[in-house]
Amino acid sequence: MTIFAKIISGEISTDFVYEDDQCVAFKDQNPQAPTHILVVPREPIPTLGDAVETHGSLLGHLMLVATKIAKEQNLESGFRVVVNNGPDACQSVYHLHIHLMGGRGFSWPPG
Ligand code: 5GP
Repeated sequence: MTIFAKIISGEISTDFVYEDDQCVAFKDQNPQAPTHILVVPREPIPTLGDAVETHGSLLGHLMLVATKIAKEQNLESGFRVVVNNGPDACQSVYHLHIHLMGGRGFSWPPG
């Protein structure tokens, strides 16, 4: 079981900035921007690469939730969403999640 499964089940107490029947969102414990929130599906899909056709609606929902939270967090001037997939992308928790970051400028290409 991953740390995110424990957060979702309530085994590890965490304040959710958003939750619904499909996902939860909470602040990253090691923020890389003034706003850094993780949007996490309740279903424990390990990586984006493990998602299949039937996850299409859920994946879209996660993106829309990230956008809704960005608006609530007043990130009108811009924000970034990131999914790290696998070791080369530095994924560290193998429960799919979207990073929502904002509140500062970001460079491109990313590191
Ligand atoms: P990844 O590297 O897998 O894309 O991102 C995992 C993220 O989860 C990291 O940014 C890390 O700081 C965050 N994280 C790991 N464990 C916890 C935790 O127990 N609580 C919170 N709030 N964030 C966590």
